[in-house]
Amino acid sequence: MRAGRIFFMALAAFLTLLAAGSQALATMVSLTFDDGLAGAYNSAYPVLKKYGAPGVSGIITGRIDPANDDYMSWEQIRELSAAGWEIVSHSVNHARPIQVPVFYSQEPIHGWTRDSPDAPIYQAHYDYELITGLFENGKPLKEVETIKELNYKPGSFFFDRVIEELHIRPFNPPEDPSSLDIRAFSYEREMEQSKKDLIEHGIEAKTFVAPYNYWTDDVREASKRYYQYAVIGKGEDNRPGSYDPYGIKRFMVHKDDTVASLMRIVTQNAVDKNSWVIFCLHGIGDNTGWEPWSADKLDKFVAWLRQENIDIVTVAEGARRMAECAASKARAGTAPACKAAPGKSAQGKPAKAKAAPGK
Ligand SMILES: [Zn+2]
Repeated sequence: MRAGRIFFMALAAFLTLLAAGSQALATMVSLTFDDGLAGAYNSAYPVLKKYGAPGVSGIITGRIDPANDDYMSWEQIRELSAAGWEIVSHSVNHARPIQVPVFYSQEPIHGWTRDSPDAPIYQAHYDYELITGLFENGKPLKEVETIKELNYKPGSFFFDRVIEELHIRPFNPPEDPSSLDIRAFSYEREMEQSKKDLIEHGIEAKTFVAPYNYWTDDVREASKRYYQYAVIGKGEDNRPGSYDPYGIKRFMVHKDDTVASLMRIVTQNAVDKNSWVIFCLHGIGDNTGWEPWSADKLDKFVAWLRQENIDIVTVAEGARRMAECAASKARAGTAPACKAAPGKSAQGKPAKAKAAPGK
């Protein structure tokens, strides 16, 4: 009730500003669901559909597996896409950029020596803490649990994380170990390969969502080669002026966060500051995934957004409007001349909620 009253006062002030000729910049909200969890399809989708709102789903392409129903299937992902959701890349393996090489140029592993004269096994130092994929001349090697298994499995590797020592048994053992062409999956490959995986399944991803919201200057640069937009964490809103299409900020939603706490974030940012607020959710409606939120809370929150006529947009649509806003500002000189476009979502027509649930 209290939050509702505060919101009403903020809305009244906002409308007064509008009437006075001062214009709204970019009041809008986006709902992103990371990791491509089944809850996005089973629970979030029916809720958003009810209110005619689009969602955004970040797919970890390497996790999609018909045998694992914790994650959505390609059919379900395509259905969301057809319904106006934005499907975005959330990498292939969900690694942090510090755990793996960042660029393609850092993928080759050098310094190979023969492990023993008897078996075609080689070793080298590996500088990173994680191997999400290892290739010999482009062909993937299989990871084994013990070093002994290398003796009878050509095309395999064993990684000792503690001492960062890598042992391999190549498909084609060379006479000269320095001629081995062994590469480790880089963060840049995560970006490019996930985009290709999505295209292969009929989805053109414009946006990359950083795994763990971990973002550095060099991965920001790499993301520009493959995407139009990159989404991170930070716990802030996006405002014209400081907005960065390769560092679009989000608020994390935790398991115990209340509907009122999300309403407060929207009121204090999107409404009061005319900014773009994006929420980062994971599992919805069940206990899978990081910090799952309930479908009931999501329903109440979206009902409230609709009731208050706050635009719900995809990341690509929000970014398009931010760019439009910046362009019109430039044309108008110093005066802010861009307006939010309520109800003009490119993705699906907003449907009016019948009643006002969530009170
Ligand atoms: Zn994630």
